Amino acid sequence: MKRILVLSTGGTIEMLPGDGGITIGPVSGMDLQVLDLIPGAMISVERFSSLPSPHVTPEIMADIARLLRSYEVSGDYHGVVVTHGTDTLEETAFMADIHLEGTLPVVFTAAMRSSSELGVDGPRNIMNAVRVACTETSNLGVTVVLNDEIHAAGRVTKTCTSNVSSFDSPGYGPLGFVDDDKVIYHRLPIWRLNLPRGPLSLDTRVGLVRTAAGFGHDIIDFLVDSGYRGIVVEAFGRGNVHPLTADAIQRAIDASVIVVITSRCYKGRVLGVYAYPGGGLDLMERGAISAGDMAGNKIRIMLMACLGAGMDELRIKELLADL
Ligand code: ASP
Repeated sequence: MKRILVLSTGGTIEMLPGDGGITIGPVSGMDLQVLDLIPGAMISVERFSSLPSPHVTPEIMADIARLLRSYEVSGDYHGVVVTHGTDTLEETAFMADIHLEGTLPVVFTAAMRSSSELGVDGPRNIMNAVRVACTETSNLGVTVVLNDEIHAAGRVTKTCTSNVSSFDSPGYGPLGFVDDDKVIYHRLPIWRLNLPRGPLSLDTRVGLVRTAAGFGHDIIDFLVDSGYRGIVVEAFGRGNVHPLTADAIQRAIDASVIVVITSRCYKGRVLGVYAYPGGGLDLMERGAISAGDMAGNKIRIMLMACLGAGMDELRIKELLADL
């Protein structure tokens, strides 16, 4: 028998209709009857929190990651399923992914529809997540299971506000899927971003600036003036910005703020190929760090953990060098 823990944190998966709309109630609306349908699993359920996921801060994400690490170390469970709201699930799953060694299968799941809606997806997603937690091969890192698909935490994102097929890994696709008879993997990640072993602490003074035509420099200056220690810039295309934004990035770097460049394109790598003012090459020469193909919201989590661990710019560059 596999010992599996289902750890609930909140989200639509446990919401019910209230007076004015769908909401979290005093009693969880999570339908756990499906757990009886899974042979070979001894399942316990614990409630960590009952939060809509927009209320889940990086500090709470870190608490969840530390708790998961304690399960990894204790060996009390063969696998853990975390139920979470879909809005910020990808960030919590990624926080856990960079902190955990990867020896314990940890599977995040959620629901796009509350338990009172027609075609509710929560019970099936929980059942599939438990099945993945029971059968997962090692070294996959944290996975995310919704709509019968298994995704890597480092790649997955919520792509649609409402559809049950919302979760996807743009440019990479799912690792596999859960069919009626078995769990099937089609590809395994050969590498994932991971923090050096040690306690997880965060410096949350890391901002995220998405550029738009003629926009970006004011916000960067504001963050620097407000004492932020790191800024992730979602630049254009290959990692390019307007010269005014490049100058703001320069001011940030001069003020010892770590600037990491990612792209507002949702597929592909940042690379310093353009030498014009504000081009990716120009930004790298000024001392900005490339985040390769990582999404801005995820590399921001990584940067918080790196700064929280007291890493300097050189060490952070080394950690991100493979991206
Ligand atoms: N707003 C909800 C949340 O993230 C959406 C969901 O769970 O699907 O908590």
